[in-house]
Amino acid sequence: MIVAEHINKYFGKLHVLKDVSLTVARGEVVVIIGPSGSGKSTFLRCLNYLETIDDGYITMEGQPIGKKKLPNGRLVDDSRKNIYRLRSRMGMVFQRFNLFPHQTALQNIMEGPITVSKTPVAEAKSRALELLAKVGLADKADAYPVQLSGGQQQRVAIARALAMQPRVMLFDEPTSALDPELVGEVLEVIKDLARDGMTMIVVTHEMGFAREVADRVVFMDDGRILEDADPQKIFSNPEHPRTREFLSKIL
Ligand code: ADP
Ligand code: MG
Repeated sequence: MIVAEHINKYFGKLHVLKDVSLTVARGEVVVIIGPSGSGKSTFLRCLNYLETIDDGYITMEGQPIGKKKLPNGRLVDDSRKNIYRLRSRMGMVFQRFNLFPHQTALQNIMEGPITVSKTPVAEAKSRALELLAKVGLADKADAYPVQLSGGQQQRVAIARALAMQPRVMLFDEPTSALDPELVGEVLEVIKDLARDGMTMIVVTHEMGFAREVADRVVFMDDGRILEDADPQKIFSNPEHPRTREFLSKIL
């Protein structure tokens, strides 16, 4: 579903992604863990072309993202149109819910399909109501973001991403900004998606969730992937001393 090969990314002189390669199969749930500043968010943003990469190659379902390979092997920037099309196939949920504050939960979810995908309003609405029910908020259609708890807002944000019918969902610390008692309800929604077979990459510090849901856990440190293993292995017997050190701090 996603292949990232030898991704390198700089912010000025700062080398933030160092030869990162990752392959995610259809239906797989990959959890990325690692210390703050290790490049997790930047990597997700590169996958979604919210950041450009300096070197490397990303494909989704075999189609290049952001860069096109010419017959002579040279990489050139892709057309805007192609980027938008590919990006619309990836749903992204951030730490901060960033819902539109002046729109109700329902309107937030309908917005993308109507304005971006040109879905007829009635169809967008019925689909949005289904999605609200799916994330357990059928009764909150007309609520504005300020009237919702953080956990409810994040569930609306997930429904909003799903409304675009993505092929892959990317989550960047979706529960890190939540009060502890609200974390569970958001993780439940993500677990549900996993059960539905959604392909997902989830950056999180929730190790219980990783253990339960991940097919693979990837440990990033200082811009590199140091370990990529099944959760059983990584939590019980991590290969790399840095993984061990990181886990000993947070478990
Ligand atoms: P993580 O998500 O693992 O905490 P990030 O991907 O946010 O890490 O950051 C990786 C490194 O890149 C950090 O050193 C961070 O300060 C730096 N960084 C992130 N975004 C920018 C930016 N827009 N400009 C400059 N440096 C950045
Ligand atoms: Mg981050």
